[in-house]
Amino acid sequence: MKPAAFEYRRATAVEDAVDQLTELGDEAKLLAGGQSLVPMMNFRLVRPSALVDVAGIPDLQYLEPHDGRGLKIGALTPHRWVEEMEDPELLEGFSVLKRAARWVGHYPIRTLGTFGGSIAHGDPSAEWCMLAALLNAEVVAVGPGGERVVLASDFFHGFFMTALEPDEMIVEVRFPQPAPNAALQEFARRAGDYAIVAAAVTLDIDDGKCRSARVVLGGVADIPLRVSEAEQVLEGAEVGREAFEEAGREAAKVIDPPSDVQGTAEYRRDLSAVMVRRALEEAAGDAG
Ligand SMILES: Cc1cc2nc3c(=O)[nH]c(=O)nc-3n(C[C@H](O)[C@H](O)[C@H](O)COP(=O)(O)OP(=O)(O)OC[C@H]3O[C@@H](n4cnc5c(N)ncnc54)[C@H](O)[C@@H]3O)c2cc1C
Repeated sequence: MKPAAFEYRRATAVEDAVDQLTELGDEAKLLAGGQSLVPMMNFRLVRPSALVDVAGIPDLQYLEPHDGRGLKIGALTPHRWVEEMEDPELLEGFSVLKRAARWVGHYPIRTLGTFGGSIAHGDPSAEWCMLAALLNAEVVAVGPGGERVVLASDFFHGFFMTALEPDEMIVEVRFPQPAPNAALQEFARRAGDYAIVAAAVTLDIDDGKCRSARVVLGGVADIPLRVSEAEQVLEGAEVGREAFEEAGREAAKVIDPPSDVQGTAEYRRDLSAVMVRRALEEAAGDAG
C-alpha cells in the first residue's frame, strides 16, 4: 500500500524542526530513518498531515563519553554505529549496546534507523527502549520552550506512547552510569523480527554473591517492564544457575503478558523465564 497524501518538508537545524512542528500542528511528525514511520504510513496505521525530515540535520550522529563515566548518543546516530562501536573506553561500560544492536532488525534497517527514532517510537520490545529503561537513561528533548531531560522511567507511557510532546524533538540519549555486567537476550521466530520476549539485565557481583540486580522484560507489557520481584530473588543470592532459574520463574509468575498471533500469554511467560535466565548467565559470564 501507499501512504495517504502528506506535505513534506526538510529541517536544517533542531530549532528549525521544532518551529516547523509548531507551525504545522499536532498532526505533523518528524521523519528520521523512516524505518518505523514509513511502514506504518504505508499500512495507513498513521496518517500524518506533514513530515518534517530531520535526517539532514548536522551534528546529531555521535557516540561519546558523557560526564566522566557515561555515554551519550546523538538522536540521529544509526543503529549500525552502535553495532560498530570500537572505542575501548566506551566498550568497557557499554558493550551491552553493541551486543544488542545485532538484534535490531536487518542490516539495511540498522543502517537507516536511528537511536532517537527508536526511543521516540517507543515499542516496548525495542532493544534501545529496553536498555534505556534498564540503565536509567536520560532522554534529552528540545521543544518551543527549550531543552528538557526526561528519565527513561518517566518516558515510556504505553504502546508507542511516550512523554514527548508533538512539537518536541529528541536530540540526545544519555546513559549516566557504565554497566559492565549487563546483557540482553531475546527470542523471535525469524531473524530481524521484533522479539516476542526479550530480557535485559544487570548484575553487581561481589565475591560470588549478587549484591544487586536489575531485570527488564520486553514484549510482555505495553512498556519495557521492570520486574523488581525477580531482582529481589537475586539480591544476596549465590551467583549461579539455581538463582538465575529462580529469578526467571519469579518473573514469569508476576507478569501478565498479552496473547496475540505471535504467542499465547502462557508461551510468553515460559519464554520470559528462559530469557531472564539466559541474560543473567551472559551477564555473569561478563562478570567473570
Ligand atoms: C522489518 C523491520 C524490523 C524491525 N525490527 C526491529 C527490532 O527488532 N528492534 C527494534 O528496535 N526496531 C526494529 N525495527 C524498527 C527500527 O529500529 C526503526 O529504525 C526505529 O524503530 C525507528 O527509527 P527511525 O529513525 O527509523 O524513525 P522513524 O521511522 O523515522 O520515526 C519513528 C517515530 O519516531 C518519531 N521520531 C523519529 N526521530 C525522532 C526524534 N529525534 N525526536 C522525536 N521524534 C522522533 C517519528 O516522528 C515517528 O513517530 C524494525 C523495522 C522494520 C521495518
